[in-house]
Amino acid sequence: MPIRLLPPEVAGKIAAGEVVERPASVVKELIENSVDAGATDIRVEIREGGRRLIRVADNGCGIPADEAALAFARHATSKLTTVADLDRITTLGFRGEALSSIAAVSRVTLLTRPRGQAMGHYLRVEGGQITHQEGRGCPAGTVISVEHLFHNVPARLKFLRQPQTETGHIHDVVTHYALAFPAIRFHLMADDRLAFQSTGNGNRYDVLIAILGLEVAEQMLALEEPEEPPAGLAVSGFIGLPSLHRASRNYISFFVNRRWVQDRSLSHAVVEAYHTLLPVGRQPVAVLFVDLDPAEVDVNVHPTKREVKFRDGQKVFAAVQRAVRRTLVEQIPVPAMAQAARTWPAFGASTAAPSGWERHEALVAAGQATMSWYQADEKPQPVGPVRLPLLRVVGQVGQTYIVAEGPQGLYLIDQHAAHERVLYEQMLAAHKQQAVPSQALLEPLLLDLDPLLAGVLAEHLDLLNRVGFAIEPFGGTGYLLRAVPAILAPAGAGLPAAVVDILEMVRQGDDPLAAQAEERLIAAVCKRAAVKAGQTLSPEEMQRLVRQLEQCESPRTCPHGRPTVLHFSVEQIEKEFGRR
Ligand code: ADP
Ligand code: MG
Repeated sequence: MPIRLLPPEVAGKIAAGEVVERPASVVKELIENSVDAGATDIRVEIREGGRRLIRVADNGCGIPADEAALAFARHATSKLTTVADLDRITTLGFRGEALSSIAAVSRVTLLTRPRGQAMGHYLRVEGGQITHQEGRGCPAGTVISVEHLFHNVPARLKFLRQPQTETGHIHDVVTHYALAFPAIRFHLMADDRLAFQSTGNGNRYDVLIAILGLEVAEQMLALEEPEEPPAGLAVSGFIGLPSLHRASRNYISFFVNRRWVQDRSLSHAVVEAYHTLLPVGRQPVAVLFVDLDPAEVDVNVHPTKREVKFRDGQKVFAAVQRAVRRTLVEQIPVPAMAQAARTWPAFGASTAAPSGWERHEALVAAGQATMSWYQADEKPQPVGPVRLPLLRVVGQVGQTYIVAEGPQGLYLIDQHAAHERVLYEQMLAAHKQQAVPSQALLEPLLLDLDPLLAGVLAEHLDLLNRVGFAIEPFGGTGYLLRAVPAILAPAGAGLPAAVVDILEMVRQGDDPLAAQAEERLIAAVCKRAAVKAGQTLSPEEMQRLVRQLEQCESPRTCPHGRPTVLHFSVEQIEKEFGRR
């Protein structure tokens, strides 16, 4: 085929696809426009997860009647004029793409009036074309309504999740902007229910309370101001006490010059600052604001503007890590610190780090490994048949590993990984027979979930109820927990928290080995139910666990693919002692 320019409507849809991924992207772009317009009151209304309707109303500067149509043209913006402006962006929008993109994949109406003008302007856009315009009276400000999103993009429509999930994402967007702009009053109505509101009183902690509830917000520490902040760089915000932790890093939020961004490296800086303070495998909660000279950060990296590039990323990383660490060290009540250190001395730290094998391989690669156990050709190997030989338990190391002896030498068993494997095979087998043991609760427990997790739950409700849970909707984001898989029952009063963790793990879906949703859910339940690292086990408990592991189909890895057992042969040991 010859090279041709794409017809405008095709080009428009392609461009739109980059900006508008799901209903929450529309809400994000419209809120950004309202913020840029100087609004102090932003009202968001959605129906059916935003698929039927998204309406954002603000009291900002409005759009003059003669510019209204232009706002829907691609690359039309009032926020940039020269290339040099791109180097110092101080508005949230600047690409002039949002309105045209949204209009290309939905039906949009605009009603707007600048404060000084007597008459407002109404405009309707369908399939990217303006189909109607007229003068109309209206309050000062702008109302944009987006209906039937993706009606003309079947591929996208197919990928939309259940309304509750999409509502959850929208809730996430609104609450994050409310945090970034505490002086703006935000209001979110979802299907005629008030889902969130902030007062706009300028106090960020009040917004935090509105989002997290008082009980959780009280476990957040305000970041200490450093004595000497690095020049032109300020880090502020809130971080959770070590007692407040989650199963994933999704509760670490970053704002760069008040833009909500995603940055793995900065999340890592926070996690590192909590080094050894959190239980194994748990992640901190944090809301952090990095403010710096706009010339020091490039926000024009991606159409959604969710990623940024720092001119000096290392400096920002270090500033975040130091600010978090200092606050933790200075503000944590001493006993909690001492106890955390006692409970998870070296092992808590090692979970975020690579697995044992990866570490040893890295050492070998770096030429630093002198211990021949870990040399590439002699690394602890899965010897013999896949099944384990009969093992005799010798003891426990670091309240985390079981030491055992077998016919071919020494075995080190990761108690958590091993137990996970045992529970996983048992539960999977029971599930195949449709007979997962379930434990009814004496009193049903109320699960009050954040909207995102409520979405995950709604999507997996049938599945959950097939693997031993009995959960029923209780209005809004509330659910009643009536029964749980028997292996979870020991959690007792901690059950709601356990369910939250499991939903979080399912949401993460970071489990490449479990292809099926079913397996993923079961793996998550087992991970939560398994004995933790850092827990002292009696000789009998250890022996029982090892027996059960011996009986597993695949005893050598946990359901997530990490090793459960390291084996050191008698020969290796003899060699190390120079006997050979
Ligand atoms: P950008 O925000 O990158 O400029 P958009 O497509 O989002 O591009 O918006 C185009 C233009 O429409 C903006 O530059 C602004 O002038 C105007 N506009 C959009 N929304 C609003 C609003 N809520 N209030 C005032 N002006 C608006
Ligand atoms: Mg914009």
